[in-house]
Amino acid sequence: MTRKFFIGGNWKCNGTVDEVKKIVCMLNGGEVPCPNHIETIISPPFIFIPMVKSCLRTDFQIAAQNCWTKKGGAFTGEISAEMLKNLGVPWVILGHSERRTLMHETDQVVAEKVEYALSQGLKVCLCVGESLKERECNETAQVVSRQVQAVAARVGCWANVVIAYEPIWAIGTGKVASPEQAQEVHYNLRKWIDCHIGCQVAQDIRIIYGGSVTAANCKQIGGQPDVDGFLVGGASLKEEFIEILNARN
Ligand code: PGA
Repeated sequence: MTRKFFIGGNWKCNGTVDEVKKIVCMLNGGEVPCPNHIETIISPPFIFIPMVKSCLRTDFQIAAQNCWTKKGGAFTGEISAEMLKNLGVPWVILGHSERRTLMHETDQVVAEKVEYALSQGLKVCLCVGESLKERECNETAQVVSRQVQAVAARVGCWANVVIAYEPIWAIGTGKVASPEQAQEVHYNLRKWIDCHIGCQVAQDIRIIYGGSVTAANCKQIGGQPDVDGFLVGGASLKEEFIEILNARN
């Protein structure tokens, strides 16, 4: 099976009503590969999801940026997986490093969220990645596999999961991983999945790269054999996102 290229636009905590309208207009007018060749998710802040969903082209799917660990209830300020499902939101990004570091989400919390979101029928973009210190200590492979292992302990079926490898030192810094660095981590992670989860999962699962992806560097990174797409932050708010969507053309 060939893995379909997968690109996500993570808007993070950005946008006003007017800015959101402009971005949606830009996306709707963009020339991009047909859905046979690429799968695209757009991830606005929760509050803009209904607005974006009502006017965004249907070949782009919506993703939430987070959800609660379990069924909804008395959890002030949280959004449950059931609510996303109810609203027709098919995807959720979980384990983003900004949530792991700023909101102190542990591997276990992320794994719990992934398990629950999948059980509710959502698809999950699971983010993993090492800090600069961990890279300098040669711990990258260990950190990334530990983060995936926490999920593997709870999840048996990986068909609805995409893994985003996002080195923390590359996120929002303009310091992108080299194509060789990205390929090395993706290759090693796929090998780890082959040994610890299963060879079919290793072959089929999409591992995408995130961290300072731009129109200028996307072709080289996206050309690596184990890089199956991107998770794009800053550049997903700009016109160049359309170029990034065409990286494999
Ligand atoms: P960036 O963010 O493209 O702005 O570096 C990527 C991400 O956090 O998903």
